[in-house]
Amino acid sequence: MGSLDLNYDDESFSSRRQFKPLDPEEFRKQAHQMVDFIVDYYQKIESYPVLSQVQPGYLRTRIPQTAPYSPESLETIFTDIASDIIPGMTHWLSPNFFAFFPATVSTAAFLGEMLSTCFNSVGFNWLASPAATELEMVVMDWLANMLKLPKSFMFSGTGGGVIQSTTSESVLVTLIAARDRALDKIGAENMKKLVVYGSDQTHSMFVKASKLAGIHPSNIRSIPTNLHNEFSLCPAVLRNVVEADVAEGLVPLYLCATVGTTSTTAIDPVQPLAEVANDHGMWIHVDAAYAGSACICPEFRHYLNGVERVDSLSLSPHKWLLSYLDCCCLWVKRPGILVKALSTNPEYLRNKPSDSDAVVDFKDWQVGTGRKFKSLRLWMVLRSCGIANLQNHIRSDIRMAKMFERLVKLDPRFEIVTPRRFALVCFRLNPFPSSNAERTELMNRKLLEWINSSGQIYVSHTIVGGVYMLRFAIGATLTEERHVVAAWTLIRNGAEELLKGLVI
Ligand SMILES: *Cc1c(COP(=O)(O)O)cnc(C)c1O
Repeated sequence: MGSLDLNYDDESFSSRRQFKPLDPEEFRKQAHQMVDFIVDYYQKIESYPVLSQVQPGYLRTRIPQTAPYSPESLETIFTDIASDIIPGMTHWLSPNFFAFFPATVSTAAFLGEMLSTCFNSVGFNWLASPAATELEMVVMDWLANMLKLPKSFMFSGTGGGVIQSTTSESVLVTLIAARDRALDKIGAENMKKLVVYGSDQTHSMFVKASKLAGIHPSNIRSIPTNLHNEFSLCPAVLRNVVEADVAEGLVPLYLCATVGTTSTTAIDPVQPLAEVANDHGMWIHVDAAYAGSACICPEFRHYLNGVERVDSLSLSPHKWLLSYLDCCCLWVKRPGILVKALSTNPEYLRNKPSDSDAVVDFKDWQVGTGRKFKSLRLWMVLRSCGIANLQNHIRSDIRMAKMFERLVKLDPRFEIVTPRRFALVCFRLNPFPSSNAERTELMNRKLLEWINSSGQIYVSHTIVGGVYMLRFAIGATLTEERHVVAAWTLIRNGAEELLKGLVI
């Protein structure tokens, strides 16, 4: 027994005994303080400039060069958060945030996030946390049901879904699955022949994912779209490009269609694009990162028509379904292909249920091994809101967007550039239609700068078909009609200031 004796007078041991990284009562106290801090922040959020006004490198001069040797109190840290961190925040949760796409939140999702963090389970396989795996399977089937996806995408059917962090990862893993399936057929030596397809409106993550998957850069097709087609990918044009590639001896591998493009929420027509993809044996993925959430409302579901013919679909509830970052839901029709491409089986993770193939091991559906219990968050959102309130939420954002669109249309100096489909309005100032294009663009750039430097709202821009436009995306969770009206007043004031100073 002597060898097990511990020296309790050992200095390092006793100092370790005083430091308790997770003392439950201390946690209760500090977490309550943090909740108070967060509530105060949410209540005061409109008093901060939406777009942070700090200069690059601002923080370096404000905080010490090294970490403190001795512990600091939570009070001191809170003081620094208020004085140093908050000014450097662009407030995505501000009701006056109209840039990009919103990052939506809810009490339910926050509580789910707390619980997920509480368990800190690292659910790489079923046994590592059976509830984490099984709840994810249930929640992915629930959401699939809400979207009226066919059974072929559900665990209760022949497919299944998984929560990824980002669309980039959803596209990367499905692309690798498609790649390996193709290389099995044509031989690894033909890797250079594989071609992937998107449009010039496909999110930039597609090129990145393609490079990561080893697709030759000259085989990443970005098919042009135009205003005439409302910037959607034309199936006939796709067919021509694919056939030209086949004639060259290349092998069509993967098509990324987008339902709700990032610039203007254009819709690639799923059904006819899937026909082209099916005819050439390529994988078709539908990226519905933003607009997919709207498809839980029957009046928008038609945008997914033809989905029964695609191989995979992803949408990000952190964009519109009130879930905090990050949460991207990916469904695949044939999980076996994904698992075959990504599975690993090291001895240190082996266990009976996995060996018996009776369970899902989500490590084989994603890039990383470890994973958080993310489905808790989505489960809490779906249960606490109910489908009814989630639909209401989508519809209320769209109602506000329609109102904003009407306001823009009422002012003859402005114009709507691309049709509004969801809660994004793309517009520009164009008071002198005969004015040249550069001049109009410069005027809109100046207008945007004026708006955003006011700190009162944050709006972003895009260029599509050569036209510079402002993107007004409604949907920050705290936004109400009055914020939209005030934003429009500000934008008009900006335009007036600008036009006053302009030599015509
Ligand atoms: C926001 C968005 C993405 C972003 O992808 P992440 O990798 O999740 O950041 C991709 N596609 C579309 C259509 C988007 O709107």
